[in-house]
Amino acid sequence: MNDTKQPNKFTRFLRNNAALLLLIFCVLAIAAVVLAVTLTRDNTPVIPDDPVTSNPNENDNKPNDNDNKPTTQKVDIHFVKPLEYTGFGMEFTFGPSNLFAFNSTLKEWRVHQGVDLLAADGAEVVAMYDGTVIETGESLLKGSYVVVDHGDNVIATYGSLTDLTVSKGDTVKQGDLLGLAGASAGKEYKEGAHLHLEVALNDENVDPMPYVNGEIYRTIEVAVEQ
Ligand SMILES: [Zn+2]
Repeated sequence: MNDTKQPNKFTRFLRNNAALLLLIFCVLAIAAVVLAVTLTRDNTPVIPDDPVTSNPNENDNKPNDNDNKPTTQKVDIHFVKPLEYTGFGMEFTFGPSNLFAFNSTLKEWRVHQGVDLLAADGAEVVAMYDGTVIETGESLLKGSYVVVDHGDNVIATYGSLTDLTVSKGDTVKQGDLLGLAGASAGKEYKEGAHLHLEVALNDENVDPMPYVNGEIYRTIEVAVEQ
């Protein structure tokens, strides 16, 4: 009898305290849910924190990088050939070993203070470097000519031209058109269309070919694009 009564007592206890037990269960369940939500809330803020903290770092680095970057860089600017030439006429004469060049027009050996670059009639003649036009004119020896001060005591005379496109005082950029190759130099006309090119360095004529070939260059500082 005792064996049968004991479960009855337990059952009765459950029935009598069902409300209390249900309340305890609910409290535990709510506590579990609150704990779970709290734990996930504690974890989730870590994820958005990362971009928030890394963005200011990136912003901090950017100005620092710019501060360290040089604002200028050195660039070699080479002289460029003044026209598409097809051959040579009279060469530059210099010194005892190469005193004269034969002038086919005058049929005599003469000093030639420049080089004659043969080209198609009307070939475009351009500035070998940036500069300022300091003189234009016309002479029997040079034909229609343009004198450009290329800076650093380098002055180039572009002669035997036609259709000059610049005037005294003009600023020219490297590659700017100066005129067209022709046969305007009366004392050289038998060479046909060509550019009579002289280069004076420190007021002394020098061989123009190193300039024509781009062997001469200047190192300049230019601004770096940020
Ligand atoms: Zn010449």
